[in-house]
Amino acid sequence: LAKLAGKNRAHLFDPINDETTRAQFMRIDEIHQGLLKNEFVLHYQPKVNLSSGAVVGFEALIRWQHPSRGLLLPGLFIPALSQHPMAVNLGNWVIDTALAQLAQWNALGIRTTVSVNIDSLQLHDPDFADRLQRQLNAQPSVQPWQLELEILETGALENMAHVSALVNHLQRMGFECALDDFGTGYSSLTFLKQLEARTIKIDQSFVRGMLDDAQHAAIVNSVLDLARNFTRRALAEGVETEAHGQALIELGCEFGQGYAIAHAMPADTVALWMSQWQVPASWAAHRPAV
Ligand code: C2E
Ligand code: MG
Ligand code: MG
Ligand code: MG
Repeated sequence: LAKLAGKNRAHLFDPINDETTRAQFMRIDEIHQGLLKNEFVLHYQPKVNLSSGAVVGFEALIRWQHPSRGLLLPGLFIPALSQHPMAVNLGNWVIDTALAQLAQWNALGIRTTVSVNIDSLQLHDPDFADRLQRQLNAQPSVQPWQLELEILETGALENMAHVSALVNHLQRMGFECALDDFGTGYSSLTFLKQLEARTIKIDQSFVRGMLDDAQHAAIVNSVLDLARNFTRRALAEGVETEAHGQALIELGCEFGQGYAIAHAMPADTVALWMSQWQVPASWAAHRPAV
């Protein structure tokens, strides 16, 4: 019955579902061509200390400058790559590009860090860590701690033993690791104990809902407690409004990322944004008493 309903719904005009349907037709060879023709680009979204406003780094978010369809968001082509080896190629391009960008920023005196999103297939590539070291070596000015690898909580759950060993290895190599979209994957406390990623990114669905939904607020609060008890850094995703930032600071959340701070932007506008960014007065005023 659900299948039938879904089938019927697909006949209605609905821009979102239409895009989703088209994404399923995004062919692997088209993505491969886009890669060869250098049509992918990384945009950078700042991550800040919510009460001081200090910029702690940028998350690299992939976009596809498609010749006929315009700038495409990852939701339109990353799902098509699911479980396909091309995800590793695209992931390598992302890492190379982020490292090259860091080298350029280092040369300009912009000392910062970049996080990249890692596909679960990359995690299972046996050459991942060694290749990452070679990729880093190709940019002598870049320090490993300037690169953070964001691993989806759900991806880590697929193969706990492997992913926790890899994360430990990567962090011993000097890279930073973060658990992305935390709270969406039903992970246990044992999981968090074993997976020693330094940072936990609270999923934006809970952050967005926390102002009008007590249960979402409770989830955010619990994840913050969890982070404190396991001595991890917590970063809230989806800080959409000034009010979200205030509420997060009151709960003791140190770091945030979201539209209230900035949208993801092209690399060449980052320096200008940094020179103009000012933390909202209400956040600075909300600094928790210690
Ligand atoms: P993510 O890693 O959780 O990234 C956060 C997403 O939330 C980004 O969407 C970002 O633009 C969006 N966002 C940031 N602040 C706000 C906010 O205040 N409100 C709302 N509503 N959204 C906000 P984007 O760029 O469309 O990326 C979506 C997802 O695609 C990412 O989620 C990540 O899982 C994946 N992705 C992005 N780039 C890459 C990549 O290079 N490789 C892989 N494998 N996945 C990527
Ligand atoms: Mg991410
Ligand atoms: Mg996320
Ligand atoms: Mg996400």
